[in-house]
Amino acid sequence: MSVFTKIITGEIPSYKVAENDDFVAFLDINPNAKGHTLVVPKKEENKIFNLSRVDYQKLMDFSYTVAKALEKAVPCKRVGMSVIGLEVPHVHVHLVPLNEMADIQFSQKVKLTDFEFRALAKSIAVKF
Ligand code: AMP
Repeated sequence: MSVFTKIITGEIPSYKVAENDDFVAFLDINPNAKGHTLVVPKKEENKIFNLSRVDYQKLMDFSYTVAKALEKAVPCKRVGMSVIGLEVPHVHVHLVPLNEMADIQFSQKVKLTDFEFRALAKSIAVKF
């Protein structure tokens, strides 16, 4: 069971920003930049291009909604998107508020307190 499935089942906590029947979005615990969010299908699948075309499109559509909310809540030049999956083998889309190229390079990290994570999640939160 992946660490993200554990988040989905509530076994481990997360700073959730959006959820529907098929997807969940929560803040990355080791963010590249303030507001770095992960969008995850609830059904555990390893690689993004193993998803069916329809599930892939649904994931992109949900990510679009979350990115819009993120762009409104977190001042940035634009929201960047990346898919990696080398650390957690459960499909996820990284949405990262960008101000400079380093924000999407996964080397420079930002430290946030529990209070800051909570406030951020609340400010991004998507209502369906
Ligand atoms: P990757 O699989 O390379 O796309 O990276 C996995 C991402 O998941 C990294 O950015 C981690 O910081 C993030 N991550 C790992 N565990 C957690 C967790 N429990 N809650 C939130 N984000 C996590």
